[in-house]
Amino acid sequence: MNPNFLQTPIPYLKGVGPNRAETLQSELGIQTYQDLLHLFPNRYLDKTSYYKINQLQQSGADVQVIGKIVHLKTVEQKRGKRLVASFVDETGQMELVWFRGHKWIREHLKLNEPYVVFGKTTRYGSTFSMPHPEMELLSEHQQGLKIAMQPIYPSTEKLSNKGITNRVIAKMMQQLFLECKGQFPESLSSGILDELKLISKSEALFNIHFPKNQELLAKAQFRLKFEELFYVQLQLISKKLLRKQKIKGMPFDKVGENFNSFFKNHLPFELTNAQKRVIKEIRNDMGSNAQMNRLLQGDVGSGKTIVALMCMLLAIDNGFQTCLMAPTEILANQHYNGLKELIGDMGITISLLTGSTKKSVRTIIHEQLENGELNILVGTHAVLEDKVQFKNLGLAIIDEQHRFGVAQRSKLWHKNEIPPHILVMTATPIPRTLAMSLYGDLDISVIDELPPGRKPIKTVHRFDSNRLKVFRFIKDEIKKGRQIYIVYPLIQESEALDYKDLMDGYESIARDFPLPEYQISIVHGKMKPADKDYEMERFVKGETHIMVATTVIEVGVNVPNASVMIIESAERFGLSQMHQLRGRVGRGAEQSFCILMTSHKLSEDGKTRLETMVRTNDGFEIAEVDLKLRGPGDLMGTQQSGLLNLKIADIVKDNQILKTARYHAIQLLKTDPRLEKAENALIRYAFTKMMQQKTIWNYIS
Ligand code: ADP
Ligand code: MG
Repeated sequence: MNPNFLQTPIPYLKGVGPNRAETLQSELGIQTYQDLLHLFPNRYLDKTSYYKINQLQQSGADVQVIGKIVHLKTVEQKRGKRLVASFVDETGQMELVWFRGHKWIREHLKLNEPYVVFGKTTRYGSTFSMPHPEMELLSEHQQGLKIAMQPIYPSTEKLSNKGITNRVIAKMMQQLFLECKGQFPESLSSGILDELKLISKSEALFNIHFPKNQELLAKAQFRLKFEELFYVQLQLISKKLLRKQKIKGMPFDKVGENFNSFFKNHLPFELTNAQKRVIKEIRNDMGSNAQMNRLLQGDVGSGKTIVALMCMLLAIDNGFQTCLMAPTEILANQHYNGLKELIGDMGITISLLTGSTKKSVRTIIHEQLENGELNILVGTHAVLEDKVQFKNLGLAIIDEQHRFGVAQRSKLWHKNEIPPHILVMTATPIPRTLAMSLYGDLDISVIDELPPGRKPIKTVHRFDSNRLKVFRFIKDEIKKGRQIYIVYPLIQESEALDYKDLMDGYESIARDFPLPEYQISIVHGKMKPADKDYEMERFVKGETHIMVATTVIEVGVNVPNASVMIIESAERFGLSQMHQLRGRVGRGAEQSFCILMTSHKLSEDGKTRLETMVRTNDGFEIAEVDLKLRGPGDLMGTQQSGLLNLKIADIVKDNQILKTARYHAIQLLKTDPRLEKAENALIRYAFTKMMQQKTIWNYIS
């Protein structure tokens, strides 16, 4: 086959035509034969087996069940109505649920007639529920055509509206295979194919779209997932090697006066071993001739600030300026004050630049940056503005990086002729698996040890019905001189409702904790920044006992005297968010507590989240659970999920394959860095093609 055949525009495929082509393009990004070929089924309906209701086991499985609807009712809920059918067979009962289309369903569903239902089940306690099932009367089902493994392709509302149903896509795929005679160019070397016993590309593509049986499907999936992850890793690793070779960094070869004098005279405590190790890693990196691009992970409270400072001192010792960027003004302020205190009278100049810095001060800062008088600039996004020019920026540190976009990170690169060393600090532990894929071209340092003497935070789960007891506990703690956070959820879609919850909560707290004995601060997103800061300040200074807030306090706020974190409607929070919130307490010498308040209604996932929080304080363990529950896209936020736009592999579930792929990518580049060897010709060809077509993530760093 002509290797460019797969680049044929999709309208040329028989049965597609301009209209359908346009919809395929806008909805699924399909422009060429190849794009269609790489539209992989999301799942397969295994319609060879039928389950009895008492055989259902876990949430999330696709199952086919035969039974009858015996009862249909509408359930009113705070967040909308749902239609619930009670569905039974001779072994038990389950629920079918619809959130939309109630009228149509009520008119068309037949009670007490045998149906075959198919769908994903969710478990609530001991009952299973199947939202929006596929349904067919048993009589019709028995007459229909049987396909053992039916592929289900990704779909959208618009696709179905335009008549491009699953069946139509399957037809197009058949046509495509016909025109290509089922032959597709191999893209892995025979060495790798043999070693991993992979099936050929043609065989894999055939079986992914038209699986003959489970076994061949599994082989096809393995081969294609491996290939996808292999090329992603190949790209990341070759990029990293290239960066190390090509981009000259500024060698910080001196360990000078500032660093040494700080270490001897100003260090307020002994560094933990983890901190020492990480500083050494960073020092080695900045001392080499390459540019550093490093991610520093460390749980909340693990002591990243001091590490950041010592790296900044190294930069200053070598004659360079440095900057530290934080995602919010509150945090930037805190960093500024903290660093200022740490450096004391060392004679190092430091300034703060945020959105609310006065124009006159700004002008001075700009000047001092340009003439090199200023050593350290701490700030928010304001640092990225074009007007901010350094004389010689040598090191840029970014705190809490998941709040910054990748594009912003790249902006820092251009603040200097030679790109500065970059250190990204994050308190959201990213599981290794994810880090490898997301940041495969970064180096990673981990602070995996907390400073000594910290009392682990005690976490409990309480139901709303125990609120009075919780309030009594709060009063005791306040009597001991402590301060309390009470946090409410705020989710964009239900903003108005959440806001009402917050205000109701605030009122009831104000009743139970009356003035003048108790002072309460409140902070939420609808307040003016100045009012927020004022309320925050009162709490920081210890003038108020209780801080009622939405999640705006999630990141970085430091009030060591606060010892209780109460999370309201905790079932609605994500795990990493709860862990971040919990990290607001446990900063002083006192025993701290985190109380997770919920109603009795909890989903399985909700329960798992709460149990995880109660069981462990370990951010990495929590991140792993979170990743399993939510999948990578959600975890990293929408901003970065595009980076994880894998077509077939899933970096969580396919963790093992990812490791194998990474291993082989590294081996390959070690033995043949430019892919010049004859045996790697197929790989070089495929790789070059992918880079040209940008079918691999276009990852900027
Ligand atoms: P994070 O990693 O969350 O940014 P910080 O740098 O704010 O953590 O440190 C949390 C607290 O721990 C600070 O009060 C800091 O002074 C203290 N700290 C940091 N390192 C040590 C250490 N090695 N020994 C004792 N206390 C430390
Ligand atoms: Mg910090």
